[in-house]
Amino acid sequence: MRRRLFLCGCTAAACTATVPSARAALPPIPMDRHEAYMRLAIAEAKGNPRYPFGAVIVRPGSGGSGGEVMARGVNDSAANPILHGEIACLNDYVRRHGNAGWADTVLYTTGEPCSMCMSALMWAGIGGVVFASSIEGITRAGIGQIAITARAVADATPFWRGLLLGGVLAAETDRMFLERKR
Ligand SMILES: [Zn+2]
Repeated sequence: MRRRLFLCGCTAAACTATVPSARAALPPIPMDRHEAYMRLAIAEAKGNPRYPFGAVIVRPGSGGSGGEVMARGVNDSAANPILHGEIACLNDYVRRHGNAGWADTVLYTTGEPCSMCMSALMWAGIGGVVFASSIEGITRAGIGQIAITARAVADATPFWRGLLLGGVLAAETDRMFLERKR
């Protein structure tokens, strides 16, 4: 199985020139913190055994210290077709914190955001998006996907220059999707 990790290729200077607040607000996040935050998203995903798409929005701590969990969400598309984990999490964030402070936050999600969710995250102006399983990995588990990558949506969004990272704990979430309740 291929494991992929891909990062936003833009430099800090290019980012800050375009969007002053989006990238500058985020402290560097070491990989072990990414993994710790992803484990929180995986815990959320347990709330939907058929479609284990879970998400958390975190305000990362500086210097590798623990961050603050700002919002949580799990797929509830049985109730509402747009309630993917990411949208549920965005809604939870707004309920708790209002429509503010996005640039300081990172969303962690067990599956690569679909084009709907990624667009919503772009509109929010979130500081970063980190996912585990790719669209490819989710499709292998028999879940239909729209074949537009999160990277493609980000690249098509001239006003967003945040962090985009995929493949974090993907071996674990690929297995979770394959072994989901059918
Ligand atoms: Zn989605």
